[in-house]
Amino acid sequence: MTLLIVDNIVKHYAAGERRILQAVNGVSFTLAANRTLGIVGESGCGKSTTAKLALGLVPASSGRISFAGREISALRDARWRSLRRSMQMVYQDPLAALDRRLTVGEQVIEPLTIHRLEANHAARREKALALFASVGLRSDLFTRYPHELSGGQRQRVVLARALILEPRLLICDEPISALDVSVGAQVINLLQDLKAQTGMAYLFISHDLKMVRQIADEVAVMYLGRIVEQGESEEIFRNPAHPYTEALISAIPSIRRRSRDRIVLKGDPPNPVDMPAGCPFHPRCPRAIAHCRSERPALRQGPDGRLVACHLAPSAGLLQRPAA
Ligand code: ADP
Ligand code: MG
Repeated sequence: MTLLIVDNIVKHYAAGERRILQAVNGVSFTLAANRTLGIVGESGCGKSTTAKLALGLVPASSGRISFAGREISALRDARWRSLRRSMQMVYQDPLAALDRRLTVGEQVIEPLTIHRLEANHAARREKALALFASVGLRSDLFTRYPHELSGGQRQRVVLARALILEPRLLICDEPISALDVSVGAQVINLLQDLKAQTGMAYLFISHDLKMVRQIADEVAVMYLGRIVEQGESEEIFRNPAHPYTEALISAIPSIRRRSRDRIVLKGDPPNPVDMPAGCPFHPRCPRAIAHCRSERPALRQGPDGRLVACHLAPSAGLLQRPAA
């Protein structure tokens, strides 16, 4: 069942002197229950903005978002709050997400109190303790304060706090990057187990492609506010179609076969205030041809069903016309 529909969303910010920062430039995707969509791309490509737009935390400049059949931008107050319960987000920094003055147990209980769920405090506490255990935290940590816990334990608290409302969609924005590798792997396993148990949908944002490969069913690769390639995760990792995806994947040591196969991209990603003409990736693209400098490639469906925005990729038909 389709849970989230993101349809051609755009987010532009004013950048002074009549200049515009194009953070997100027409992103579309759908996400079904029991599926994980990974969003990857270099820092600044619009991943977090896309997540905030999907949750209705920032208003879109244009485009539509619907969740469980209802359009988000059209919802107000009470209806929005009740829907918001079903969509939770876990951010990169667990310490910033927690209140230093409250015990972690109190903070897992808090969403239940805010939403007036369960009959009384004892019932809320019982539910919070059960969840505490299911995210792998010992019950004696329940009465501790955030600074008394390790980074991995804190991220589990944040996860428990998000999960206590039994969301249908969990958005994880770089949830593991603050953690070390072994703790990160534990959190990934936990997320996989929870998905199998509850049928939750995940939007999993990370610049760590190895981690995305482990967790995502489908992957969307973003570059300068646009999806440049999207499809089934394993197919993309095995056989990237866009030169940008290829470069990102070639940078993962365990995937690249020989060190000289690594594709090193020229320069930094361009500034989203000064979009290059033509294909936004052409100034860094090792395969750019003259056409790439003049015309931006549309996101097209390839013969294998995946979406690619590249003049050099085989195409089975135009999917989305480039915006004027
Ligand atoms: P990512 O999460 O992929 O690193 P972001 O979505 O955070 O990227 O940011 C995309 C672009 O939008 C960046 O250039 C960033 O500086 C800019 N941006 C994000 N939020 C704001 C804001 N509130 N005001 C102005 N610019 C912003
Ligand atoms: Mg981000």
